Amino acid sequence: MKPGKVLVLGAGPTGLTTAYLLAKEGVQVEVLERLPWAGGLCKTFQHGPYSLDLGPHRFTPHTDGVYGFVKELCGDDLVLVDERISFYLFGDYLHYPPKLGQLLRRVAPWEAGALGLSWLWESARGAFRRSADSDESYEQWMRARFGGKMVDLIFRPIVEKTWGLPLRDLSWRLARQRVAVSGLGQAVWQVVTGSRGELYRSRYYPEGKFFYPRKGFGSITDRMAEEIRGHGGTIRLESQVEAIHLRDGRVASVEYSSNGRRNTTIADAVVSVLPATILPMMLTPVEQDPYLEEVREAAGHLRFRKLILLYLVVERVPIYEHTVAFFPSGDFIFGRTWEQGNFSREMMPDECSVFGAEITCWEDDDIWTADDAQVFERVIPQLEAARVVRRDEVEEYFTVRLDYVYPVLDRYFEKRLRAVEDYAANVENLWINGRPGLFSYINIHQAIEMGMVAARHILTCDKAAWQQDRERFWEYRLIE
Ligand SMILES: Cc1cc2nc3c(=O)[nH]c(=O)nc-3n(C[C@H](O)[C@H](O)[C@H](O)COP(=O)(O)OP(=O)(O)OC[C@H]3O[C@@H](n4cnc5c(N)ncnc54)[C@H](O)[C@@H]3O)c2cc1C
Repeated sequence: MKPGKVLVLGAGPTGLTTAYLLAKEGVQVEVLERLPWAGGLCKTFQHGPYSLDLGPHRFTPHTDGVYGFVKELCGDDLVLVDERISFYLFGDYLHYPPKLGQLLRRVAPWEAGALGLSWLWESARGAFRRSADSDESYEQWMRARFGGKMVDLIFRPIVEKTWGLPLRDLSWRLARQRVAVSGLGQAVWQVVTGSRGELYRSRYYPEGKFFYPRKGFGSITDRMAEEIRGHGGTIRLESQVEAIHLRDGRVASVEYSSNGRRNTTIADAVVSVLPATILPMMLTPVEQDPYLEEVREAAGHLRFRKLILLYLVVERVPIYEHTVAFFPSGDFIFGRTWEQGNFSREMMPDECSVFGAEITCWEDDDIWTADDAQVFERVIPQLEAARVVRRDEVEEYFTVRLDYVYPVLDRYFEKRLRAVEDYAANVENLWINGRPGLFSYINIHQAIEMGMVAARHILTCDKAAWQQDRERFWEYRLIE
């Protein structure tokens, strides 16, 4: 029997998808969101005359369900855009996939030989090693497929910059999730053929393109929120979940703060997209539970990286030709930059560009508490060195800072996450999901699919089937 009322904690794409699909089926839904907007990381905000995304977002669906769902929401606003990814390497912008001529000009033959030899050496050693298992680190996984030299040249600096840990301390799962090519052999094949590889192929969009809603990526979640409200659902913004009270193996009520006041709400089922790091701290059983203490201890060791987005308004169009450019080298504090106007020119006045740089950090890094001027001063000399933007061209700059952005899949995360998942699995009417909830490094098309799968099983109250279905989320691969 379908539940009468469902409470969704967290209004990102995962939670909104579930809430929308349930509301359509006549279920009463209430969504609690701590931020002043619905959409989570998938949001377009207004800054003066500019509509801006929270970092570069592209929609790259792989299934009928997800493509059809977003197409129905956005209609003709969902358009195809040219993908122009580049890497700033060897003092130049190299296309992705790299072009042979460009590489030949930039990589000396002896360097190419050394890369090939190191790959052959690791491949030969790999033949005597067991296959990937949970003990294997990001470093081991990458060396076996690309050779040590390639790892040191390209992957190590950008991965360590993004995740804030040495490569050897990160899990092989993260490598498999985010590396688009299976090894050096396939990378060479891409250079020769100019193809982007399997992961970038889908029958919904041609190679070299992606979908984008003309008025900004956040239109997708804005439309979901409208539909939820249109179907009688409630979305409470600036409503931070504080405690989830448990009784008789079920969620009895949820407490949240809003406008400085504490409120309580109840529902038949509760979907939590709250970060896996904080959910166990909020669970409040009637009696003390030693098992929950162990789960809290495990969750306390899971961590997320934070993200600072620095936006620069420049009166030059375009600033560069790329949609996104990666900066693997440790010489740059940022890992990636993007130009919003190359996603859609409809998001700002004709004569302006808004350019963004992404900086990931820990909470106790100086940059996290630095003011906007200090962040700008760290970044601008590096942008000038890379010939992107000159200081005297910048009309205005500002930052947006985001929490719980990158789940850090270190070598021990799986065991710790399983402890949280197992505890939640035993709370009869609690369903945990989404990027922060399941600590999954995923795209929005996968977040939407997760939200759809949850809605389907909630409607039939089949948590066992959900637990089973959810295992395949581990197989998701990220499109960056
Ligand atoms: C810079 C950047 C670029 C990206 N680029 C792409 C891309 O090109 N293509 C793509 O498909 N995907 C991209 N993504 C990923 C995409 O944004 C996420 O996969 C998606 O937003 C995940 O949705 P979610 O609902 O699972 O989580 P989230 O979007 O993180 O939503 C979780 C929500 O829970 C809320 N919450 C947390 N704590 C509480 C609390 N105590 N009480 C109430 N609410 C709470 C949060 O505020 C948030 O709104 C990108 C992400 C980033 C950061």
